[in-house]
Amino acid sequence: MDSAKTIVIGGGWAGLATMIELSRQRQTAHLLESAKQLGGRARRVPFDKDSLDNGQHLLIGAYKQTLALLKTIGLDSDTVLQRHTLDWQVFSPVHPRVQVHGYSAPAPFHLLAGLFTARGLSWHDKYRAIVLGHKLWKENSIAHQDISVSDWLLLHQQTETLSRAFWEPLCLATLNTPIQEASAKCFVRVLTDAFLESASASNYLIPRQDLSGTFVDPAMTFIEKNAGRISLAHRVEKILLENDRVIAVQCQDNVIEADNIVISTPPNQAASLLSGIPQLSELKRQLSAFSYHPICTVYLRYPEHTRLPTATPIIGMSDTLSQWVFDRRVCQQAGVIAVVVSSSGPHMGMDNEQLTATVASELAHCFPDWPNHISAKVIREKRATFACHVGIDSIRPQTETAITGLFLAGDYVDTGYPATLEGAVQSGLTAATAILKSNITRAL
Ligand SMILES: Cc1cc2nc3c(=O)[nH]c(=O)nc-3n(C[C@H](O)[C@H](O)[C@H](O)COP(=O)(O)OP(=O)(O)OC[C@H]3O[C@@H](n4cnc5c(N)ncnc54)[C@H](O)[C@@H]3O)c2cc1C
Repeated sequence: MDSAKTIVIGGGWAGLATMIELSRQRQTAHLLESAKQLGGRARRVPFDKDSLDNGQHLLIGAYKQTLALLKTIGLDSDTVLQRHTLDWQVFSPVHPRVQVHGYSAPAPFHLLAGLFTARGLSWHDKYRAIVLGHKLWKENSIAHQDISVSDWLLLHQQTETLSRAFWEPLCLATLNTPIQEASAKCFVRVLTDAFLESASASNYLIPRQDLSGTFVDPAMTFIEKNAGRISLAHRVEKILLENDRVIAVQCQDNVIEADNIVISTPPNQAASLLSGIPQLSELKRQLSAFSYHPICTVYLRYPEHTRLPTATPIIGMSDTLSQWVFDRRVCQQAGVIAVVVSSSGPHMGMDNEQLTATVASELAHCFPDWPNHISAKVIREKRATFACHVGIDSIRPQTETAITGLFLAGDYVDTGYPATLEGAVQSGLTAATAILKSNITRAL
């Protein structure tokens, strides 16, 4: 029988954050990951002779805990991430381009100035956006009961152009949930953190390498250097208890003892791990109530000289299937363009060839001087994120459970954030802190 103080189940960004913090604090910890690689939903995948990500990711300046974690493992965030001032550009085949550029001024004036000088918005659009921004700035939260983002936009008299070119793409990008269904409470949290706290919070941070090179591999090195153990291809099948406290996990071939266990898997897999624990049947019911939305990323390889004609390597698209377009020149992949299609929609009924053809023709329409693409890869993550619907808070669990030594981490835990890297990291750090606290309590 092996032995370890804390077992972390799942090596996504949440599990890695827990392990980093525990190994930094010299706690004995062992990470068990069912896949052959770490990173979970934010990891490298091979493409031709190159590597891509299982989905194009964007971080923003408001990701304080993620940036602090990079520092903890010895990375300089400006070296691993390329920072760009907010530059919101939405192209459409049928409407004028909308552009809002963030200025270098204290928040919220960076955005106020951006709205005044925005292109593609009427004065009425700008006025309505500024009134709403002012309200958010003064109140700093949504006071009433949760409603859908679309109802919230109606309540605040947002125009059709603002919804189409700003609110809807922003809601899909951050909550991966259609505005008719999305939680206004969670959306407002993202808006206040990203746009009203500081000008740098709204900066785009784009990984300069694939996600494993950016964080996952250095995290693994840090953990192992600090005596943390990592076992890949180790699926945990059961959590073993004695007198309402955890004692071990059961994998396929062995049992590993533990004083603490952090379940750091998505909610559906966490629910199945709780199956044998009748004391947690209510928590299991809660976790089973999560629903999910997909994200598709279509990677197109063009000749190397092909590039987005904008200073920032990201643009939005509206009135198209394509929603966000990234130029992977940033990660030394000149000519590789990543097109993100969030949530459900007609694209889910298309096969990869149809989807690629549609996305490529939309790009060709926007950028008529681009040559034809050379190759393509479509990556569909069917359960990319939990659906961040109205009332989601009521099913998001806390870190601690009713079983001594059993903790939860993962982007779905109640951080107030939607399913993001920052939410995952926050949840992982909170779990590590809870373990440190409980270890001290037990020692007394
Ligand atoms: C395509 C796509 C695009 C995204 N874009 C962005 C973005 O631009 N910005 C952003 O901030 N966020 C984005 N996200 C969301 C972000 O990737 C996730 O919120 C985050 O990665 C979740 O991390 P996690 O650790 O909570 O879960 P996961 O990454 O799902 O990690 C859970 C791990 O647990 C393992 N596991 C499961 N069951 C077991 C078991 N029984 N035993 C052992 N191991 C197990 C899994 O293999 C997995 O590695 C995107 C997600 C996707 C899929």
